[in-house]
Amino acid sequence: MIVLEHVNKVYDNGFHALKDINLEFKEGEITVLIGPSGCGKSTTMKLINALNSSSSGKVLIDGKDISGLNPVELRRNIGYVIQSVGLFPHMNISKNVGVVPRLKKWDKDKIDQKVNELLDMVGLDHTIYSNRYPSELSGGQQQRVGVARALAADPDIILMDEPFSALDPISREQLQDELIRLQQDLHKTIIFVTHDMDEAIKIADTIILMKDGEVVQTGKPDTILRHP
Ligand code: ADP
Ligand code: ADP
Repeated sequence: MIVLEHVNKVYDNGFHALKDINLEFKEGEITVLIGPSGCGKSTTMKLINALNSSSSGKVLIDGKDISGLNPVELRRNIGYVIQSVGLFPHMNISKNVGVVPRLKKWDKDKIDQKVNELLDMVGLDHTIYSNRYPSELSGGQQQRVGVARALAADPDIILMDEPFSALDPISREQLQDELIRLQQDLHKTIIFVTHDMDEAIKIADTIILMKDGEVVQTGKPDTILRHP
């Protein structure tokens, strides 16, 4: 479980991006953070994987204050998927997916097996795609690689920041369905950022609505107002 306690984030330029945030992200659930652009969704995600530090308050993962953890170690155990996938252009697909397992020095056979399994799981036949390069894939296919990469080292936590928003509607629906299916199998703790309420209602176990750096509402999809 991930807990934020009285978290404030004031950026170096004085902007107060998060104002006394108190949240719980439950294990094995998909929690969707939703709200207008600039409300603090990405800032919240970056606090959880220590790409940002809070100005006050605590972020706890399984009861441990993450300010006491090595951020590099922490990030190796958190899958992170962002809109601009950020695949390494000079590495083929298989190498891209295996980045974190290699950093963790898994043995090669185990990495190959895991990478192939994940590529198949996200709908990219590994016999076809393993040796291709990112530039040879469509946007939707690159996003699938991004999802596979985030899952590769078997993290308990996956942070997804508008991962599907650049996709065409069909790829987007496919990936939403795949995410729901994956979650049923893998029971990861997933935090998913979007500004699309239909997407949120479709995939979320819990929805957190943010506005101007504050949490406005938290609840199950059926209790959240569709047009707040
Ligand atoms: P910080 O170290 O201040 O928490 P980040 O590491 O999140 O900042 O971002 C790196 C840099 O990107 C910042 O130093 C800042 O100059 C710039 N930046 C990103 N987004 C904004 C923004 N909305 N307004 C101003 N600067 C920004
Ligand atoms: P969201 O993900 O909800 O669109 P963000 O968390 O990226 O919002 O940003 C929240 C607010 O903080 C925005 O007003 C943004 O401009 C500001 N901001 C983000 N990063 C920085 C930064 N590095 N320096 C200053 N302001 C920032």
